[in-house]
Amino acid sequence: MRTQVAIIGAGPAGLLLGQLLSRAGIDNVILERRSCAYVLSRIRAGVLEQGMVDLLREAGVSDRLDREGLVHEGVNLAFGGVLHRLDLKRLTGGSTVTVYGQTEVTQDLVEARRALGRPTVYEAEEVALHGIDTAAPRVSFRANGTQQELRCDFIAGCDGYHGVSRGAIPAGALATFERVYPFGWLGLLVDRPPAAEELVYARHERGFALCSMRSAARSRYYLQVPLEERAEDWTDEAFYDELRLRLPAEVAAALRTGPALEKSIAPLRSFVAEPMRFGRLFLAGDAAHIVPPTGAKGLNLAASDVRYLFDALREHYRDGSDAGIAAYSARALARVWKAERFSWWMTGLLHRFPGSSAFEDRMQQAELDYLVSSPAASAALAENYVGLPYHGEAGIGPLQPFRDGSGPPGR
Ligand SMILES: Cc1cc2nc3c(=O)[nH]c(=O)nc-3n(C[C@H](O)[C@H](O)[C@H](O)COP(=O)(O)OP(=O)(O)OC[C@H]3O[C@@H](n4cnc5c(N)ncnc54)[C@H](O)[C@@H]3O)c2cc1C
Repeated sequence: MRTQVAIIGAGPAGLLLGQLLSRAGIDNVILERRSCAYVLSRIRAGVLEQGMVDLLREAGVSDRLDREGLVHEGVNLAFGGVLHRLDLKRLTGGSTVTVYGQTEVTQDLVEARRALGRPTVYEAEEVALHGIDTAAPRVSFRANGTQQELRCDFIAGCDGYHGVSRGAIPAGALATFERVYPFGWLGLLVDRPPAAEELVYARHERGFALCSMRSAARSRYYLQVPLEERAEDWTDEAFYDELRLRLPAEVAAALRTGPALEKSIAPLRSFVAEPMRFGRLFLAGDAAHIVPPTGAKGLNLAASDVRYLFDALREHYRDGSDAGIAAYSARALARVWKAERFSWWMTGLLHRFPGSSAFEDRMQQAELDYLVSSPAASAALAENYVGLPYHGEAGIGPLQPFRDGSGPPGR
């Protein structure tokens, strides 16, 4: 089998890249380890930056997103029992975020790929990359009981943190940076309307809590828990009782409970692998980096990587230029590191760290107080939360001026 771009992994990064390439007339094949049903059943992220929404529109997969996505103009911080709303739209000069589940994004992309008749090999086993530093890379795999080989011009490693692509880069050529946090998030999904219209990030002495949602009828709640906890040890009632304790009274009172559709614990990790290209292999999404979910950046970073990678590959095939390919890693990493910083900072600001001192506790409180009382500090949080711009060469460059031409509020 031969194609132009072999894509490893049918998560959001692989599917979105495949969709953009297919629409640009660039041949591609996706190899996915799991079944399609398994991929579609994964419950994950749900807050999309404007840049990702725009990219999904460009990819022609935004009909349902535009109909069903919930545009949020604000976000809430809760501490000391009080709710503080940050007006994202005002603070950023017009930017918002859109609540639309990763599961829905994946579903839309799978359907669009089917409609275009592009091949995805599900349940591909023993995927292995060969000759990535040659002009003729190959991917070997087993499917339907037979050993197969896919020859290609380029390989896009979109196979997540546990995939094989990153490991194909010689160890000496790869630098990794990591922080593992001493707690996890216990998540619960329920078919009940959200306790608050916009997300609530709550800092509490018992630990962090988040009220999120996937739609107007489906809520996603999280509790910070020690890493040793097991999701099956938490009854739904115990979860809701603990959540109420960590929320301001008015949000706790509005909590609508019901049987959990899903309950699981996700560990928190910051991770970056550099570079994101080796020869003809590109890494994109979780294959290259992980953020703790506190800043809602994981899925959005997968989208920005795909933006840069698609532009680079299109430039190669359409214009015969490899400038984008040469710049891909630096361009993607410049944005990745800023999102890593934001996610790490939000995590440090809102969680209880085992063994933290009374001084550190006061520092968190003072920073939160500063954040909600200083327009400049609020604006800094807001512009990161809605997503930094995608442009830039070696870096993302200076931030865009506010869209209405004004400066930050209060200046
Ligand atoms: C439990 C959980 C909860 C999360 N919650 C949030 C959240 O609330 N907010 C947020 O912003 N982000 C969240 N994230 C992160 C977000 O979901 C990811 O950043 C996003 O899925 C990245 O997309 P991706 O396509 O790069 O990787 P993935 O979605 O991981 O997709 C990779 C794909 O590659 C496949 N694959 C793996 N190995 C192989 C192989 N050897 N051969 C072939 N295929 C392979 C996998 O099966 C998978 O389908 C969460 C992640 C997890 C795991």
